[in-house]
Amino acid sequence: MSAQDWLSQGTLVLASNNKGKIAEFEKMFAELNLPVEVIAQGKLNIEDAVEDGLSFVENAIIKARHASRISGKPAIADDSGICVPILGGAPGIYSARYAGEHGDDAANNAKLLADLKPLRKDGEAIEGMFVCVLALVQHAEDPLPQIFQGIWQGEVMEAVRGENGFGYDPLFWLPELNVSSAELSKEEKNKISHRGQAMQLFKASLK
Ligand code: IMP
Repeated sequence: MSAQDWLSQGTLVLASNNKGKIAEFEKMFAELNLPVEVIAQGKLNIEDAVEDGLSFVENAIIKARHASRISGKPAIADDSGICVPILGGAPGIYSARYAGEHGDDAANNAKLLADLKPLRKDGEAIEGMFVCVLALVQHAEDPLPQIFQGIWQGEVMEAVRGENGFGYDPLFWLPELNVSSAELSKEEKNKISHRGQAMQLFKASLK
């Protein structure tokens, strides 16, 4: 079996039900012109996997295997989140459910702001990074998942700003650009984001 056999399978399942991620992936996969159809797992009625790993890599593999097992097709999953060193890396793999309910972006942002409030010092930025791990499996028991990882450094703001994107984008400040990631267009964000970086590595693996 070669690492690129999945390219001849006709379909690649995108193992995510997150609308924000799927919107970004749609653009990036379209640009790659792959000889396979990329289908989000929701279109195949595949529900979210139970993410019980302790790292982005473990959870990305769990999600990809789950989608591949149910669909019988190769699958690629994204496990991502924001890590804040001053919080010991939290929210990390729990980013989607930081405030309790899965995918409640407003509550998650409010909890991150509240957690950081007592730690803020005048004039000092709080470092944060978005992390994205992509795992590609050719079949559910694939012993050699392909892993592509991107890390996007920034700062965590004191209040939300911007309307674009999803999740923690309105709290993620890019000091070199003087904008929050929620002020970037999808195209601008994909060029530099954690997900965009991981997709660049995925693209390079196709050569
Ligand atoms: P996952 O679906 O378990 O990988 O959780 C990902 C969570 O991380 C999302 O629900 C967001 O809260 C956060 N996240 C990941 N990528 C981004 C991003 O590009 N912008 C903002 N938040 C993100």
